[in-house]
Amino acid sequence: MVAIPKVCRAAPASNAGTVQYTIACREDYPVPEPKEGELLVKLNFCGVCQSDHHMMAGDWGIAPAAGVDCTGHEGAGVVAKLGPGVDPAKWKVGERVGITPVHWTCGDCEFCNNGHETICLKKQYVANVVNGTYTQYPIIHESWAIKLPDNVADEQAAPFMCSGGTAYTATKAAGAKPGNTVVVFGAGGGVGHMVTQFCKADGLTVIGIDVGEEKRAVAEHAGAAHFLDVTKISDADLPAAVRKLTPDGLGAHAAIVAAGNPKAYANAPGLLRPCGVVVAVGIPAAGTAIAGADPALVTFAGISIRGILVTSRADMVDALRYLADGKVKENVQVVPFAEFPETLAAVAASKTSGRKVVDFNS
Ligand SMILES: [Zn+2]
Ligand SMILES: [Zn+2]
Repeated sequence: MVAIPKVCRAAPASNAGTVQYTIACREDYPVPEPKEGELLVKLNFCGVCQSDHHMMAGDWGIAPAAGVDCTGHEGAGVVAKLGPGVDPAKWKVGERVGITPVHWTCGDCEFCNNGHETICLKKQYVANVVNGTYTQYPIIHESWAIKLPDNVADEQAAPFMCSGGTAYTATKAAGAKPGNTVVVFGAGGGVGHMVTQFCKADGLTVIGIDVGEEKRAVAEHAGAAHFLDVTKISDADLPAAVRKLTPDGLGAHAAIVAAGNPKAYANAPGLLRPCGVVVAVGIPAAGTAIAGADPALVTFAGISIRGILVTSRADMVDALRYLADGKVKENVQVVPFAEFPETLAAVAASKTSGRKVVDFNS
């Protein structure tokens, strides 16, 4: 049994969906009742992601629905209550569960049927249609609830539900083979340090690109063989620097843009060898970037550009195996619940490295 209180901890926003939003810690946030097909979850940990900021600010053109004031889309905890219609053979109260950014997909459209369920035409996001993981008792649809392996800790699993799964799918999309070279933009960041680890686990050589010594340390710890600090090298010099680091001088096989920086997108195609792949993961504010500055470069070199939006349920199961086997690990810094607002502010301003995780039981 999980005893369910009437109110709980949460960090809801005022002015949700506008750039003026602010979040504040509360101890008296209402605990909801799960409806048909839903699970009520009691979270132990929740990741703080830069996407939370964009979702609450509404600057991606996706604003939270009316009544949704808790953002957050990555968490780990236990099932607290089954809604009507949930099969008790599938989910049990007290069972460990992870929450990913997706709340529900239709399972019946062209994209769901072709292995691209995160692009589902009817998909619903956590923190968009329902409150997200900034409340200790969120609701999720049972179809997207993720079972957590026994040997994965909650504070690892929470951020992994977003950054780990996304990083796994992005690494797969690069299509690189063991021995190939992959550039990772934002290699010291929340998604980038996971991409770097997945690449290393798959036998790829990573050239990490990021800003400053702190990010360098994270990227190198994650397994980047080389690091280029954009505060020390100009955009114009980047292509030559990357070519010099590839054994045959032709450039990288893929560039995974795990940074939400428009400049990373402008630079990525120029770092690739012919037929290279740009994997677009990081999302700058809407309308600030295009994937590749010069279409001629893309055309002449046969460059492909692939977009990755979070991860599918099947990929998440595969990705969790890397985590359970110790092949990858989130660089997690656990912060107490009371530090929620300043933590989000620091993440929103890109002033953190690795992954901040809030401990709801602190
Ligand atoms: Zn996230
Ligand atoms: Zn669909």
